[in-house]
Amino acid sequence: MASVKESLWDPVAGFGVTFRTMFRKVFTEQYPFDKKPTAPRFHGRHQLNRWPDGLEKCIGCELCAWACPADAIYVEGADNTEGGRMSPGERYGRVYQINYLRCILCGLCIEACPTRALTMTNEYELADRSRESLIYEKKDLLAPLLPGMEEPPHAMQLGTTDKDYYLGLTGAAVPAEGGGEK
Ligand code: SF4
Ligand code: SF4
Repeated sequence: MASVKESLWDPVAGFGVTFRTMFRKVFTEQYPFDKKPTAPRFHGRHQLNRWPDGLEKCIGCELCAWACPADAIYVEGADNTEGGRMSPGERYGRVYQINYLRCILCGLCIEACPTRALTMTNEYELADRSRESLIYEKKDLLAPLLPGMEEPPHAMQLGTTDKDYYLGLTGAAVPAEGGGEK
């Protein structure tokens, strides 16, 4: 025969956590109706940045693709031509894709990028209904043109030497960094 403890106390004790939790503050987040800001250095969707005259920072070197542990990046570089350049370097990224079905948002690619062309934004709403739509093309990743920028291709518009260009020492007053990179 069950003791008094087993028949009376144990069933109540079994619900102890439930009863205690009923009177605690609720932490449920009302996403997507109430969106909380992410930490400033959160690793979200990538962005391909621009120089202040609108040229692309990406030089098509593929270092980001080689650094990626998930094989999520595909880059094809091409040569620039004088007067019709896409980036200030010898080459630019003609094809640039990130496959968000593979990407684990680890950030190794942005560490590998020598020109700060590739950075990550705070955007995290990447879910979609088809596999194709989760392969982001260059046009999906490029930073928008800010005031003072011109859509490439065009010649380098800042400074008289390469050093001036990269230091932003001469030229019209333009924003220091392209499209809100961090
Ligand atoms: S964040 Fe990581 S997994 Fe995603 S593309 Fe960059 S290196 Fe690859
Ligand atoms: S994003 Fe950076 S690392 Fe990747 S190809 Fe362009 S310049 Fe090279």
